[in-house]
Amino acid sequence: MKEPTLGNPQNTIAVLQKYNFSFQKKFGQNFLIDTHVLDKIIRSAEITKEDMVVEIGPGIGTMTQYLACAAGKVAAIEIDKALIPILEDTLEGYENVQVINDDVLKVDIAKLAKEENGGRPIKVVANLPYYITTPIIMGLFENHVPLKSITVMVQKEVADRMQVGPGTKDYGALSLAVQYYAKPYIVANVPPNCFMPRPKVGSAVIRLERYDEPPVQVEDEKLMFRIIRASFNQRRKTLANGLKNSPELQFSKEEIEKAIEGIGKSVSVRGEALTLEEFAALSNLLYESERMRTKE
Ligand code: SAM
Repeated sequence: MKEPTLGNPQNTIAVLQKYNFSFQKKFGQNFLIDTHVLDKIIRSAEITKEDMVVEIGPGIGTMTQYLACAAGKVAAIEIDKALIPILEDTLEGYENVQVINDDVLKVDIAKLAKEENGGRPIKVVANLPYYITTPIIMGLFENHVPLKSITVMVQKEVADRMQVGPGTKDYGALSLAVQYYAKPYIVANVPPNCFMPRPKVGSAVIRLERYDEPPVQVEDEKLMFRIIRASFNQRRKTLANGLKNSPELQFSKEEIEKAIEGIGKSVSVRGEALTLEEFAALSNLLYESERMRTKE
């Protein structure tokens, strides 16, 4: 396999000029131009020839070349039609890469893993388009894509949100969702000058290692996530009011207060003070009270 040729400013500019490519802001296009960062991403994703990697947003194929050298197989999903002829050129000779011209949010990645990897877990590695980071990550988890890990470049602030616990301003629904499915670990902070064009925000590479079993036991996952969303939708309100006012939940004030006291908290507690374990316990108590009510 050919050594990667991209990853530095000169070669990136040469490719962009050859194809007269103009960056599309609406697609979150900030291409990596730093070989050290690329090496670090590939190393921290611990890719082997046994792995199938799905790359979201290959751009001009910079990281794709590195992934092709490390992995058994790569599927790269790119929305921008203008990049497809460029990818055909930059990925020539990298026989283990399949480029899919589509919106990642519309691609059935579980089906792709089944067809291309015999249903075995895949690794997702990407420099993500920041405007859809949360739907991409949540989609991978909630659609039960067989996954070993996700190693991605995201906005620094979003990486922080994914890994913090209760009692900090960044703690919220994304932290709880990510930590229910995976163990997060920030690999590196990456400054704007490692990209072309430079983004206005700082970036970080985060690795999410999928748990075989979630760290807490919940009777009804969907109910727990409705409760979590309701708790953080009205951050300044108490947890009890947040749950009472949510159109997604149908519990009475008494049921809510009893459940909150049941996990050993005061009824004036705020959602942002609860750990994942406490949200799971609360959700199980509310699940039980709903079951009793419908039995009556
Ligand atoms: N991987 C390249 C790199 O590191 O140089 C490009 C990363 S750039 C931050 C994000 C890429 O995602 C762009 O190529 C953009 O066109 C693509 N993209 C944006 N929205 C997308 C979507 N909904 N589905 C698939 N690709 C998308």
